[in-house]
Amino acid sequence: MEQKIAVLGAGTMGAGIAQLAAQNGFDVLIYDVKEEFVQRGLDNIKKSLQGRVDKGKLTQEEVGATMARLRATSNRDDAAGAAYIIEAAPEDLELKREIFRDLSEKAPAETLLLTNTSSLSVTSIASAAKNPERVAGMHFFNPAPVMPLVEVVAGSHTSPDMVQTVAKLARDLGKLPVIAADMPGFIVNRVARPFYGEALRIVGEGTATILQVDEAMRGAGFRMGPFELMDFIGIDINFAVTCSVYEAFFGEPRYRPHPIQQRMVEAGQLGQKTGIGFYRYDGKKRLDPLTPTISTFQHHGTTSFLAPGLITSFLEKAGVEQLPESVAHAEIVTRILVMIMNEAALAVGEGVASVRDVDRAMKLGTNYPKGPLRWADEVGLDVVLEVLRALQAEQGEERYRPAPLLRRLVAAGITGDGVGEGFHSPGEKGMV
Ligand code: NAD
Repeated sequence: MEQKIAVLGAGTMGAGIAQLAAQNGFDVLIYDVKEEFVQRGLDNIKKSLQGRVDKGKLTQEEVGATMARLRATSNRDDAAGAAYIIEAAPEDLELKREIFRDLSEKAPAETLLLTNTSSLSVTSIASAAKNPERVAGMHFFNPAPVMPLVEVVAGSHTSPDMVQTVAKLARDLGKLPVIAADMPGFIVNRVARPFYGEALRIVGEGTATILQVDEAMRGAGFRMGPFELMDFIGIDINFAVTCSVYEAFFGEPRYRPHPIQQRMVEAGQLGQKTGIGFYRYDGKKRLDPLTPTISTFQHHGTTSFLAPGLITSFLEKAGVEQLPESVAHAEIVTRILVMIMNEAALAVGEGVASVRDVDRAMKLGTNYPKGPLRWADEVGLDVVLEVLRALQAEQGEERYRPAPLLRRLVAAGITGDGVGEGFHSPGEKGMV
């Protein structure tokens, strides 16, 4: 039987993608460098499917049928016969380039070669292949069988037809695809950076405590605050993504990593998985009372960098209602939200993705309560711009400079829902 999809790497992502593909009726070949690694991947898939049976979401017969569609191999050449090859090997550029060089020689010219890289350049991986126009990024989120989003990443060589074919494959796998240019962090890992980066800044400069930041962001509709989310993801993983985006943008100050996070990594305090991060844990349970492990940072005053009227106007229009009455809480939410909106505007302005795809990616990839550009439209782009300018003036830092696209829209009188058109047009297509 010819396998339609071959997955390279049977680790966290490879096993998840293979499971997803088999569950959606594809015949799947799963490869890893050693037989025992492939077997471990298959065991994990079985466990994951069994978990769904226990929850009553799958029958035993469906598990049997899914497992029957999976074939394991430790001979990489077997993958050359698949129509789609999805690579989920470790995040190492030379290793990925070697895989693409070799398989592009062995596979027929029409085979699609896809990489699940989170942070490497798809263009660089593709340029090792014989036919780089047939290489694209297909970025799944963890856990792949559950998370609804896939970023389809077009490298410099990727043909437009190929992008559409990969988007269709994502839909056939039950996912919602968004299309992203091959820029560092693609959409989600880039636009989400200020959620952590600005939070670390706020704590690092003594404006608020970790607990205040997490409470404030939960109050604004996020499922988790930045620090509890970093603990959940793994502080080391989060730090590595930040460093990689920072380096890939040649030291752009908006992405500059924070020493607080680096110290946590050096201390081996990585979050839930080590029992201690910004909070303490017993297994997955956070220990009460919620005492952050870093307690040296305190809120120093009751005044804010931003004019109270400006904060009130921003938060009211943003629909953030249940804020505690502290100045710190209001400032925290305003600063983090405005920086996410600005990052989203920068991504659109630089051609990384459309307005619709950026909003969709942030809602589906990170569970944000609203798409940041829709949210900015609701606040009013003139107010968003005013907050950014006030922060830039007060802090005297480049990281707060407003996106050129935001400035241009405001200059043209396109300021959001108040005038009917902002990043999104009333027809919902998105004006950019
Ligand atoms: P992992 O370490 O869990 O799995 C990697 C697997 O690749 C291991 O089983 C390893 O034995 C295997 N491997 C080693 N050398 C190989 C080779 N030459 N060819 C094929 N397989 C090889 O890693 P992961 O978390 O599954 O990440 C895999 C890829 O997916 C990375 O590029 C990562 O950046 C990306 N990614 C990870 C996540 C995540 O949350 N973990 C999310 C999206 C994308």
